[in-house]
Amino acid sequence: MKRMVIGNWKMNLTLPEAMALAQGSIKAAEKCHGLEIAIAPSHVWLMPIKDSVRMLPPNFSLVSQAVSQWPEGAYTGDIAAKQLKGLVTYSLVGHSERRQYHHENGKVVSEQIKQLLNQGITPILCFGEMGQATQHTFPPQITIDLRHDLEGLKPEEIKQCIFAYEPLWAIGTGNPASPDYVAKAIVHVKNWVSEKYGVHVRIIYGGSVTEDNAGALGSIRELDGLLVGGASLQIKRFSQICSDFCSIV
Ligand code: PEP
Repeated sequence: MKRMVIGNWKMNLTLPEAMALAQGSIKAAEKCHGLEIAIAPSHVWLMPIKDSVRMLPPNFSLVSQAVSQWPEGAYTGDIAAKQLKGLVTYSLVGHSERRQYHHENGKVVSEQIKQLLNQGITPILCFGEMGQATQHTFPPQITIDLRHDLEGLKPEEIKQCIFAYEPLWAIGTGNPASPDYVAKAIVHVKNWVSEKYGVHVRIIYGGSVTEDNAGALGSIRELDGLLVGGASLQIKRFSQICSDFCSIV
């Protein structure tokens, strides 16, 4: 399976800006065959982006930033997994901003995962600790929250998720986790999942990824990809991150 780089655009960009950035990201995918490149625009821009290209490159995908925990109904402003079917390959769940501003807890996240899997969409489960662990407190307490997110899911369902390790103290702060910290944390989680559920999962890293640290992160053998926020909004930076990460593959 290819490693991946995902750009999370969050609530940014007008339609013309989104179209231009999507075109640039598609070009980056055409240059980096060894990588899967994906973008998570605002929901309203998914369809225009998809419609603007006759055929997306095979290593390029669209991602939803969020999904409802319900299948359909009177939930104003929400978007159902079945409405995303055919439009996106992946959907983020449990992003720290959704947990913070929309109060999405473990129960909600596990329902969202089920909705997505029912529609054949791969969930990207974001998780991570609030504060940086020290040498004495490592590994950070990440598996406690993960246990809630995964409650009620079968090992075959967990296996289909991609995990995104995003320490909160590193998101949007310009203070990324060091490659050594990331390597140890993801190995810890991979081992925990494998011992508890008997499955192997893929884990990507997010938190202040830039063109300055993508290459070093790429050298972590156990790392399956990157989730990039702020730096994915500028095509020069996003392309550089992709090619740096790609050149290590
Ligand atoms: C994110 O919000 O998923 C993220 C990784 O943001 P940033 O790269 O800006 O830290």
